[in-house]
Amino acid sequence: MSKEIYLDGNATTCVLPAAIDAAVQAMRDCFGNPSSTHATGLKAKAMMDAVRQRAKRLLGVGNGRIMFNSGATEGIQTAVLSALCALRERRERGEAIGALLVYGATEHKAVPEALAHWNRLLGLGLELKKLPVDGDGRHDLAALRALAPQAAFVCTMAANNETGVVSDLVGIGATLAASKALWMVDCVQGLGKLPLDLGNTRIDYAPFSGHKLYAPKGIGMLYVREGAPYTPLVMGGGQEAGLRSGTENMAGIAALGAVLAALEEGGTFRSPSELHGFRDKLAASLRAAFPGIVFNAPLDKALPTTLNFSVPGLSSKELLDVFDAANVRVSAGSACSAAKAAPSYVLDAMGLPAWRSSSAVRMSFGPLASEEIINEACARIERCGMALRDAGLMDTPVSGAVVPEGVLQLSLAGNHTWLLLDEPSRQCIVIDHQAELGERIDSLLHSHGYKLAARLSTRDGGETDSFAFGAHAVRRVALDSTRSAYLLCSGDKVDYAFTGLAALSELAGKVPADALVCAGREEVNACCTSLRAEAQASKASTELNLDSIALARLLEAQPQAVLVDVRETYEQAACIPGGRAAESVPLSRLAAFVPGWLAAVDQPPLVFFCRSGNRSAKAAQCLRRLGYRNAYSLAGGVALAAPELALAA
Ligand code: PLP
Repeated sequence: MSKEIYLDGNATTCVLPAAIDAAVQAMRDCFGNPSSTHATGLKAKAMMDAVRQRAKRLLGVGNGRIMFNSGATEGIQTAVLSALCALRERRERGEAIGALLVYGATEHKAVPEALAHWNRLLGLGLELKKLPVDGDGRHDLAALRALAPQAAFVCTMAANNETGVVSDLVGIGATLAASKALWMVDCVQGLGKLPLDLGNTRIDYAPFSGHKLYAPKGIGMLYVREGAPYTPLVMGGGQEAGLRSGTENMAGIAALGAVLAALEEGGTFRSPSELHGFRDKLAASLRAAFPGIVFNAPLDKALPTTLNFSVPGLSSKELLDVFDAANVRVSAGSACSAAKAAPSYVLDAMGLPAWRSSSAVRMSFGPLASEEIINEACARIERCGMALRDAGLMDTPVSGAVVPEGVLQLSLAGNHTWLLLDEPSRQCIVIDHQAELGERIDSLLHSHGYKLAARLSTRDGGETDSFAFGAHAVRRVALDSTRSAYLLCSGDKVDYAFTGLAALSELAGKVPADALVCAGREEVNACCTSLRAEAQASKASTELNLDSIALARLLEAQPQAVLVDVRETYEQAACIPGGRAAESVPLSRLAAFVPGWLAAVDQPPLVFFCRSGNRSAKAAQCLRRLGYRNAYSLAGGVALAAPELALAA
């Protein structure tokens, strides 16, 4: 198995070895409660104080305060609660406070959610107002100038987590100079990547999170300007000078201290110019791998550790899958579900076209990156590009790749389009075309040299008719006056029936019992089935899902078992070669292979696997329903498979 390359640093990072050592030391040798007055407690307190002093120096907080907490979401809550409580008191005293809670349109969700929550709980009734950003993702200072006289509280960020766009904090500060509004800056993505001199700004609150810079999850800091209003979020034993009760997370503080020491002392992290060089290399490889790629934020206005991009014709899910297969971890720039990617509100706020916003991918690394890792990442990026091109997904002629033939399923938001591919004549029939798949189908056909022979719809009624398709025949059967099924026949035998949205119960007498029924929607059937199988479907007696241990046992007991990789061809091609032998049957092509498996006399165990176990479970269920008892799915997929299994990844 190839080494994982982790390029999702804006989501979280690994923990710096020195931070792990410091946390272990804090748990093993310096385990005291910093509130205890005996020597063990004093030692712990000294360690904590030293970390706080270091944080104060690094962040230039002047007379401001730094308190430790659980992370940025808590820091944001505390800042919002403090600001809103102060505003309520001022209003009760009869002071004018402004009517608006202003927040940047691209803030992390923790900010608007916290504003809405505390505004409601405290009964303030202030209006939440989004501050627009420009096409580069920077706050619109003219809009802020217009809002400033009415602003009670302003929330902006130092750098954006999706795009890496760095805010103009000096410009925002200047715009707010005459305003009485309180100001919070979410500095989560800025720590260790941007120079921060908080005491010399008019920023009132600045939350930080350890796990975005090589400290563990569950430790964070909040900066509060000297004189800024403060209300504790957590009351109790009065720890953190009464600002945040609860015994401190000493292991976390020690680990954060090690990271801050690395920042202050130098020598551990890469310099900004080295990081720029790394990003330029990654960007160059991405451009070479994905012709037409667009970067969603101007590189010169973003952190050197973040790239956000979209590739025409490719969804973020496809890109994530292919990168994951190559053992490169990146994330979707937008919230992405299996069915359909939701657009990114950050990219939407920047006014980018919908396709870019819904297909964006974020690649981010931290200042611990090395030349070696970046070079390997570049090589794998280029491999991923080649894999997608060879699969015919990028509308470039493919060479040497396997030409798909037979039946192919394309799914979008639960709807299935079926392609019938006759390899000898390079003719293709499309059944139940979906407009959004148009480009994908065109590039698939074009890349593999296929011609479109016909587009058929099961949503048409009409006479029963029949036409030749290569060595086969396609027969239309009217289901009623508005719906048809299409039968793909070899001589007198009906191999497949494409039945659109019709329920299986409507097909009796119209579709032969043993034909493979390929439905038009996931709810009717995920892959394929037959009327006979549905009539006989009984609960399988053996467990469908195998974990690594069960799979190893099965492979030992039944060496004739066949492993079947149901990831798409581009994922398989992106894997580093050298894994255990497996048959390649992408889930989209499963229906083409089912008849062969069902016809086999010996029916060896078939163990399907994929990235995470979803697609393989569909494949195994499909086979089991069709009466193939020995079909299994590797639970958790390649992601959780034991290395000893040596599955290609
Ligand atoms: N703010 C920004 C900009 C972030 O990127 C994140 C984490 O994704 C948060 C706040 C929340 O941080 P935490 O995970 O420490 O609660």
